[in-house]
Amino acid sequence: MSESTMDRLNALLPEWLETSRLHTGQGKVASYIPELFKASQDDLGIHIMDAEGNHVSAGDCGVPFTMQSISKVFTLILALMDHGEEAVFFNVGKEPTGDDYDSMIKLELVEPGIPFNPLINAGAITVSSLVGGDCKEEKSRRILEFFRKLAHNERLGYNEDVYRSESESGHLNRSLAYFLKHNGVIKDDVEDVLAVYFRHCSIEVTCADLARMALVLAYNGTDPITGEELIPRRYVQIAKTFMTTCGMYNASGEFAIEVGLPAKSGVSGGILTLVPGQFGIGVIGPALNRKGNSLAGVHLLERLSKEFDWSFF
Ligand code: GLN
Repeated sequence: MSESTMDRLNALLPEWLETSRLHTGQGKVASYIPELFKASQDDLGIHIMDAEGNHVSAGDCGVPFTMQSISKVFTLILALMDHGEEAVFFNVGKEPTGDDYDSMIKLELVEPGIPFNPLINAGAITVSSLVGGDCKEEKSRRILEFFRKLAHNERLGYNEDVYRSESESGHLNRSLAYFLKHNGVIKDDVEDVLAVYFRHCSIEVTCADLARMALVLAYNGTDPITGEELIPRRYVQIAKTFMTTCGMYNASGEFAIEVGLPAKSGVSGGILTLVPGQFGIGVIGPALNRKGNSLAGVHLLERLSKEFDWSFF
């Protein structure tokens, strides 16, 4: 089954990618982190990998980009592996917000003032503080090591320019973090927590890295290529549920209807998604729609999901 799907993907993907690329002009490259604005508006790339390591890729799949919010899925998993569900969900909720990912409105309005979920900025900053480690360097080192393992790529590292750019311009995230400290949700030094958060957002990948990381989720925590169990199944289940309900920000409902796969996007234009038990998929398309998701990337995934009947709903 997967082999013939691969054959069909091989035949269809290059042309479909070019059709989706025609939509990049309608989107906008993120500029609130100045360094991200250097990305090319017209770029679009995809990499799809199966359990034997076969892959199909098309377009600008070799262009490196920073993970941004995609990293939040995996820091959540690491925090769960470090401390368990009870400790993590004492500090972060499990519900979508319907607000923008960097909004702080519900932190003030809704008791007890904890972030609604781990994939909005307030939630992910809180999760950064929960990752095990005695200091920010140790936490960051453990996160990078974990990501390298999942991507099966020892060369994964940071884009220092993006890190600096976000650290210098991240006033809204700073205010979220100080608010969380005031509410007692963050216990550590705020600037240290933000450094860990900005660092994991600046981890640089290609579509192939995302596809390999997604493949581990598609196979419930075991890398199907090496056979190594990297994440307990229960935590993969939690991560995929959040990806489905909150992974595409406040366009997650529409994405669930049109694509029907767990996914996580980032403001760099990356999308990580997966077909359970079949494929890991990485996409890059820096031009974003109004909800902050890759415009052409979503277009391409909608078409693929419909053609191959991938929606699990
Ligand atoms: N680093 C980004 C931020 O905190 C991540 C947000 C995103 O990708 N949506 O603003």
